[in-house]
Amino acid sequence: MTRGETPALLPTAIVGSLPKPSWLAKPEVLWSPWELDGDGLVEGKQDALRIAVQEQQRHGIDIISDGEQTRQHFVTTFIEHLDGVDFERRETVRIRDRYDASVPTVVGAVGRTKPVFVEDARFLRQQTDRPLKWALPGPMTMIDTLADRHYRSRERLAWEFAVILNEEAKELEAAGVDVIQFDEPAFNVFFDEMRDWGIATLERAAEGLRAETVVHICYGYGIEANTRWKQTLGSEWRQYEESFPLLQRSAIDIVSLESHGSRVPMELIELLRGKKVMLGAIDVATDEVETPEEVAGTLRDALRYVDADKLIPSTNCGMAPLPRDVALAKLSALSAGAAIVRDERG
Ligand SMILES: [Zn+2]
Repeated sequence: MTRGETPALLPTAIVGSLPKPSWLAKPEVLWSPWELDGDGLVEGKQDALRIAVQEQQRHGIDIISDGEQTRQHFVTTFIEHLDGVDFERRETVRIRDRYDASVPTVVGAVGRTKPVFVEDARFLRQQTDRPLKWALPGPMTMIDTLADRHYRSRERLAWEFAVILNEEAKELEAAGVDVIQFDEPAFNVFFDEMRDWGIATLERAAEGLRAETVVHICYGYGIEANTRWKQTLGSEWRQYEESFPLLQRSAIDIVSLESHGSRVPMELIELLRGKKVMLGAIDVATDEVETPEEVAGTLRDALRYVDADKLIPSTNCGMAPLPRDVALAKLSALSAGAAIVRDERG
């Protein structure tokens, strides 16, 4: 992950989405429909990618992401590009055991006949010399975000998706992506499935990659259904206790977790010792902007349990639902907080 002028210590990254420009999609909502179409949409997405790169760099982010500017949703946009999925036949399903959403339906054998994000990644690669990180949904989160009328087995479908994700990841890597991230918020909900086949399908998705691999597990976007769920989780959120020991022994290089503003006990990251940790030092569930000192405090706390050369300061989750100026101010706080701790470490 050494390209451009990336600092060796505490390189910063965002987890996933950034707010989209209002001319591209309605701001401050998830799954927001496009405001453009045809060639205008293609050009609009590329302009949004250019802006996302420039804003990340201007606000001190070292590992650059696409900010999910070319996708409507972090899971369904990928699924909709696959064979065997009817995206006009939408069904309402319960997602992460928490909220209902209209999702596409699997109606036949799934397959990937063409790349999904590879062109976008190639375009992004041309915009910056810094390392690139690209996020894909994880297999378990994919099957939890669709209706399945064909396989009728969550595990079987997850294995199919793992193969497809691996093909896409290898092409993203060839397009110049340095870090491949798999989003698996489902690992914080379905512990039995995670143990039985979730980790194994994730490893299959990451198989044979030279790029560093990340798994992102969070408590979700700052939307009402998630905020209500969090209120039921008690004074300490210990869900990571289920996944971290398994991930510590897995082939995945980096674990991305939610921390600042959450009730996750910091000592849980000790369970990951030896792995790199992408630590959420920015709360995405509030418009209140962290101070650099608050970010630094969170990072210092984390450094009691993770080696400094393995810590990647980051956001808790995606920032799509935030106002744009808030999201950018949070990026500045993140990089300024990381700089404070970097200076302390000489
Ligand atoms: Zn997340």
